[in-house]
Amino acid sequence: MKYLDEYRDERIARALAAEVAEHTTRPWVLMEICGGQTHTIMRYGIDELLPRQIELVHGPGCPVCVTPLETIDKAIALASRQDVILVSYGDMLRVPGSHSDLFRAKAQGGDVRIAYSSMEAVKVARSNPDRKVVFLAIGFETTAPANAMAAWQAKREGLTNFSMLVSHVLVPPAIRALMVSEDNRVQGFIAPGHVCTVMGCSEYDDLVRDFCVPIVVGGFEPVDLLEAILMLVKQLEAAEAKVENQYVRSVSYKGNLPAQQIMYEVFEVADQKWRGIGPIPRSGLRLRGDYADYDADRIFDLGELTVDEPAECISAQVLQGLKKPTNCPAFGMRCTPENPLGAPMVSAEGACAAYYHYRRHAVVS
Ligand code: SF4
Repeated sequence: MKYLDEYRDERIARALAAEVAEHTTRPWVLMEICGGQTHTIMRYGIDELLPRQIELVHGPGCPVCVTPLETIDKAIALASRQDVILVSYGDMLRVPGSHSDLFRAKAQGGDVRIAYSSMEAVKVARSNPDRKVVFLAIGFETTAPANAMAAWQAKREGLTNFSMLVSHVLVPPAIRALMVSEDNRVQGFIAPGHVCTVMGCSEYDDLVRDFCVPIVVGGFEPVDLLEAILMLVKQLEAAEAKVENQYVRSVSYKGNLPAQQIMYEVFEVADQKWRGIGPIPRSGLRLRGDYADYDADRIFDLGELTVDEPAECISAQVLQGLKKPTNCPAFGMRCTPENPLGAPMVSAEGACAAYYHYRRHAVVS
């Protein structure tokens, strides 16, 4: 298949890994931001192809994993109401809240429906004028324009029974938060290609300037990731720090301007709590005042909740690259995809699920 097979070619992958080894003279810690990239690394054993000096750690780029526990609890509370249809992406249903999850809410009679796009939620609202339809709008910059479009369309149609429970997060402020942390070990980042397809590479210039850290926008196939790693290693070994774009077949410098336009027409930047990590200034999106009538938080007066993560779950350290999933004492024993304790074991993009599915079962101390 054109544009796929060539990015999974073993011969090219091995040649790139050999080139990484040739250029590596000392240890480097690199982080891929996106959970999709983490899964590719685990699935194809990319970390095992690299020289021992290169350590890959996994970042906070799994949208399901960083959606606050409080948002899950609010969604469960909404799904339990007789007058509400809660519409969500499928990944969110098994994410544990503080006491339950959306699957259990559905089993207990809640009207929870799975959608593959935000516009399906608008369609549900259109077809059910006597019910209140709430869409659980989560994700990074990748999904924000489509979710914005749903609110825009609902407003245009004058739908009064549609609203969104919003928990959107942004990548550059998360990288900034990692870099200012005194525990930070990361020396180079692979930025997420899909986010940059929407937002472009230009957003990363400030980070490179402020922290002297190389950032390479990378794709999602094995050859993409190995090439991005090679680009990072070359920069690090040459004591350079710049933004480079490996994923040129999708990402431009400025990104998708119409998508950004609809996103900022409907949403504005706001402080945001990240599950496990805590609040990060100006790292999220909320509905603008013009769209207040579509804000489920306001309509249902959901208020502020503060909920603690299960004490055993070390997802905060996993999401910041400080620990690996196999460092967690619960990994593969008390925490499995069937019985997850934390979100990274549930999501198709979660680091713990990646280690579990691709049989990195050995628990290391
Ligand atoms: S293995 Fe489970 S409990 Fe441990 S960090 Fe991952 S999600 Fe949390």
